[in-house]
Amino acid sequence: MRQSPRPPPRPGEKFERLTVQSIGVRPVHGRRQSVAVCLCTCGLLCEVPVAALRRGAQGTRSCGCLRREKASALGLRLKYGRAKALARKRARVEAKQLRAEWYPSEAA
Ligand SMILES: [Zn+2]
Repeated sequence: MRQSPRPPPRPGEKFERLTVQSIGVRPVHGRRQSVAVCLCTCGLLCEVPVAALRRGAQGTRSCGCLRREKASALGLRLKYGRAKALARKRARVEAKQLRAEWYPSEAA
C-alpha cells in the first residue's frame, strides 16, 4: 500500500469557493477516506473527500451552490416557464401511475 506523497490540505487553504476548516477521516464503504470540512462562500459547511478537492478543474470547488446557480441562471433566462410546465406534467403522470399501482392493493 502506497500513501499519497502529497500532504493533506491545510486548514485555511482555499479551493475556489471552499475554504478548508479541518481535515478528518471517516469510514466510507468500509474504507477510511480523508475528508475536508470546508466552508463555502455561500455560508454552508460541507464535507468533501480530499481526493475530490485535488482533482483540479474537475474537482469539487463549492458546496454544490456553483452548479445550482449556473442551472438556475440558465433556467430563469431560457426555460423557466417551460421547465415548470414540464415538471407539472410529470407530477401528474407520476400521480396517475401511483394511483394505478396503489388502488388495487388498497381495494384488496
Ligand atoms: Zn456554497
